[in-house]
Amino acid sequence: MTTIDEEVAGYYDKLVRRNAGEVEFHQAVAEVLDSLKIVLEKDRHYADYGLIERLCEPERQIMFRVPWMDDNNDIRVNRGFRVQFNSALGPYKGGLRFHPSVNLGIIKFLGFEQIFKNSLTGLPIGGGKGGSDFDPKGKSEGEIMRFCQAFMTELWRHIGQYRDVPAGDIGVGGREIGYLFGQYRRLANQHESGVLTGKGLNWGGSLVRTEATGYGCVYFTNEMMKARGESLDGAKVIVSGSGNVAIYAIEKAQELGATVLGFSDSTGWVETPNGVDVELLKDIKEVRRERVSEYVEEAQGATYHENGSIWDLTADVALPCATQNELDGEHAKGLVERGVRYVAEGANMPSTPEAIEVFRDNKVSFGPGKAANAGGVATSALEMQQNASRDSWSFDYTDERLHGIMSNIFTMADETAKEYGREGDYVVGSNIAGFKKVADAMLAQGVI
Ligand code: GLU
Repeated sequence: MTTIDEEVAGYYDKLVRRNAGEVEFHQAVAEVLDSLKIVLEKDRHYADYGLIERLCEPERQIMFRVPWMDDNNDIRVNRGFRVQFNSALGPYKGGLRFHPSVNLGIIKFLGFEQIFKNSLTGLPIGGGKGGSDFDPKGKSEGEIMRFCQAFMTELWRHIGQYRDVPAGDIGVGGREIGYLFGQYRRLANQHESGVLTGKGLNWGGSLVRTEATGYGCVYFTNEMMKARGESLDGAKVIVSGSGNVAIYAIEKAQELGATVLGFSDSTGWVETPNGVDVELLKDIKEVRRERVSEYVEEAQGATYHENGSIWDLTADVALPCATQNELDGEHAKGLVERGVRYVAEGANMPSTPEAIEVFRDNKVSFGPGKAANAGGVATSALEMQQNASRDSWSFDYTDERLHGIMSNIFTMADETAKEYGREGDYVVGSNIAGFKKVADAMLAQGVI
């Protein structure tokens, strides 16, 4: 008789063999499969009908050439991706990432995570992800526009409000969504607002979408702290990154009484012992599109560092909001030694498996990305609701909905962990709660 460990190892080994070299995808699947062992032990029907193997195989993977002309009239060729992973709960939903590190494995890891994240929101959205190895850094406005148009020239035939609804991720913000939407509208010859989310406010966008991932991550953190009788008021917080997620995590954490001690970008990190001037940071990053080193030129008491890492700071709460595998086992050990008690992931898979192990061993309250950063995609689903009813909601109402969704996700992760005898393990709780809804839908819908 095969044991559960052997059964799961079988799924995993086959996946690694069939998806050679896609290390981030392997990592994301390994974590989920590990959590599912206790489910498969109790409920054998979740192993029926090839369910686990079907779940790990994208429904469709699209790769395409994106040729475009730069400002010197030279032709550049990038690669475009859209992985339509699972549509059992609703149309594929997930962002587009434009970053030189993008490859099929990265998009598959993100798409796989998105399935469970979107399930946790409780809203009718499946999982997908896309992007390109295009590097927006240093590109002119015209180059960005021409690239977005070239990218959508292929993507448009694969998406639609009932089929697949992309949004932003790293390197894709409001400006890029604008150019992408314009090209979709031209090619499809219809103003189909529900085809993309993260749109501008006067052409179908939703209030709170810009703030949602960062705010949601802080709402989730607050729930974890409440469960232990603590709050963000007076807490010291480290936020890595300085993009959309980081900026609004900083804003909300400080609004709730925390002091944010630092933030970072890919070249260095900034220490802010007196807290962050969020308006200045927004101006530097969102308007001027400059590096974080610029911040210390204009803010009192802040220092810029290229050596070491932002995880060398001492704090109660750490919010990794930059990118995958940015926080490793050594960083985690240092954070724990210096007293970190809460970690919530604003980015997708920013903590390595070794880091998560350190947090688990030391009873750090740890909110995994698929739960803690689900506020962004949840608010995208609220944008879809507004588009479908040709309505637009107020900031306060939308923020209240976001808050409610984040509290629900916490409760679900918490209760599921308890149900499976793993109290306080929100990784296991989120993976199982997210999985069960998708799995039940897949079983109900037959072998497809
Ligand atoms: N890229 C975000 C995420 O990782 C948001 C996706 C969306 O709004 O569709 O969840």
